[in-house]
Amino acid sequence: MAHTSASAGALLRHVRTGRARSRAELVALTGASRNTVSARVDQLIAANLLEEGGRGWSTGGRPPTILRFNSRAGCVLAVDLGATSVNVAVTDLAARILATVGHPIDIADGPAVVLGEVDRLAQKVLAEAGLTPDDVCAVGVGVPGPVEFSTGRPSNPPIMPGWHDHPIPSAFGRYGCPVYVDNDVNVMALGEIGVQGSVQDLLVVKVGTGIGCGVIVDGRVYRGAQGSAGDIGHIYVQPADGGTVLCRCGNENCLEAIAGGSALLRDARAAGLPVASTRDVVELAARGDGVALELVRNAGRTIGTVLAALVNFFNPHRIVMTGGVAQAGAPLLAGIREAVYRRSMPLAARALEITVSDAPDLSGRIGAALMAIDEFLDEDSVEELAR
Ligand SMILES: [Zn+2]
Repeated sequence: MAHTSASAGALLRHVRTGRARSRAELVALTGASRNTVSARVDQLIAANLLEEGGRGWSTGGRPPTILRFNSRAGCVLAVDLGATSVNVAVTDLAARILATVGHPIDIADGPAVVLGEVDRLAQKVLAEAGLTPDDVCAVGVGVPGPVEFSTGRPSNPPIMPGWHDHPIPSAFGRYGCPVYVDNDVNVMALGEIGVQGSVQDLLVVKVGTGIGCGVIVDGRVYRGAQGSAGDIGHIYVQPADGGTVLCRCGNENCLEAIAGGSALLRDARAAGLPVASTRDVVELAARGDGVALELVRNAGRTIGTVLAALVNFFNPHRIVMTGGVAQAGAPLLAGIREAVYRRSMPLAARALEITVSDAPDLSGRIGAALMAIDEFLDEDSVEELAR
């Protein structure tokens, strides 16, 4: 195995993610000297981030002392902002929810109204968990639109009028801690690995009105050079009927213009189905309506052709489908699997799992918490904490 960094932050991460449970395992994992590892572990224990538990199994000699991450060293606020509702939670440093509350909002009311409500809900969950603003180490916020991650400002978000360039972190000044903001798909992607408890290479594909994808590499969100990695909704696809569909981005034949939720609604109406929303189409399909089923399956096939290319390129362990259209479940998955297994290389497709999210409502909150925790406990800040 290749050796990795032995900084205090890296050592903490190995223990947090369960890769190492003792000084000896940290030495084996990082290739650093026993003295170096011991000194840094002592610093982490002094900083209250690690604690020593009982004795583990030994392969000879004195059994090693078990190291545990102290997830009660602080708490984080997790905010999952949607178009019509917000969920706020306070979690420990292992993203376990201590208290949570949800509330209807209209994102189009703008940042002053919506963030005011979030502030009220945050104070409520903290009080419920018996915590104070001083206990909050970091805040994580997921929003339904593109965000410049380094500043926490939305960037021309299509369904968030009034939010362009608004500094969302400034709404959390009372906590005096770092605030991290990202788009909902990246946040949900982190939440999926939190819910499943794995550190893997994963694609989380949200099929709502549009289509987006969160890319998890080795347990972390991959954002790319400008933060737009995973924007698969505007990849070119060839429509089955050979026609041309104009996308809201101005290009023709984008994936979401042909297979997103809005496209599904448009095609269902054109086929004469009595539907007023994408949800109606999904519900008709769930009740076995033949036309709705075929539309959903076709959307799956189109999404699948793009995912097949991503599978060949990225070789993920798993693809998780989420968002309103993913609620259609079986017919969507059938179309996706058909295209992916037909067009992916056998080695990449052999062990690939394609599933629908088990916990679509929870993943936004867990993911926002994990984003805050991962950033707060990244290698540089842990060096500071352990100093
Ligand atoms: Zn487009």
